[in-house]
Amino acid sequence: MRLHIMLAGLLAVSGHAAAQGHAGPQGSAPAAHGPTWSYDGPSGPDYWSRIDAAYATCSTGQQESPIDLAGAISADLGVLDLQWRTLSARVFDTGHAIQVEATPGSNLTMGGRGYALLQFHVHQPSEHLLNGHRYPLEIHFVHTAPDGTLAVVGVFAEPGAANPVLQSVLESVQAAPDAARPTLDMTALLPQGREFFRYEGSLTTPPCSETVDWAILAEPITASDTQIEAFARLHPGNTRPLQPLNRRFLLRSAP
Ligand SMILES: [Zn+2]
Repeated sequence: MRLHIMLAGLLAVSGHAAAQGHAGPQGSAPAAHGPTWSYDGPSGPDYWSRIDAAYATCSTGQQESPIDLAGAISADLGVLDLQWRTLSARVFDTGHAIQVEATPGSNLTMGGRGYALLQFHVHQPSEHLLNGHRYPLEIHFVHTAPDGTLAVVGVFAEPGAANPVLQSVLESVQAAPDAARPTLDMTALLPQGREFFRYEGSLTTPPCSETVDWAILAEPITASDTQIEAFARLHPGNTRPLQPLNRRFLLRSAP
């Protein structure tokens, strides 16, 4: 009997460790963000709301993300004014994605409201679709307003020329996880075109809070096949399934 309990305990511990397997060598990461969730199996997206009562919105929410960016209504959305500075940023593995913590001073103005850049992270493949097309990578630039509202700018990457910033991020996280602070020229993560899609949505990870003003650029940047494969090795399929649009409008900035 006692042996059974011990074995069960050991299995529970090793299962927990496996679920957090992508954490850095210090076992950092999901840290302080509640119970463990993942992208597949019994802790995957279908079960997020059952893992913790605080994650209920993942099932009950009506304004969830990601969505397929299709059937957008053209509208005058003003300019997506991105004032990002070169960052000397901490690159680390959250256990769910490779993330870069922004140093202060990079800002976004959208719809007359100002936001500050907090961090960016990479999904492989993309979470949003563009008219049914899924890109190999999607980068989320998370901004926050003084009142706590979030604005997330999404940028797709398609196969092509290598991206210098993604290269620095990959080299940093592989060489010195949690310790690297490469200098990143953020403009290299933006396409030339500034047309964008706009809708009200949610975090795409638990607790799936519906507090996000999404702005997703229509034009992708490029990443090399090698870079895409590297992200795929680090966090394969860190992508929440598509959510229904329900009674929301999807807007597209007039060209
Ligand atoms: Zn994200």
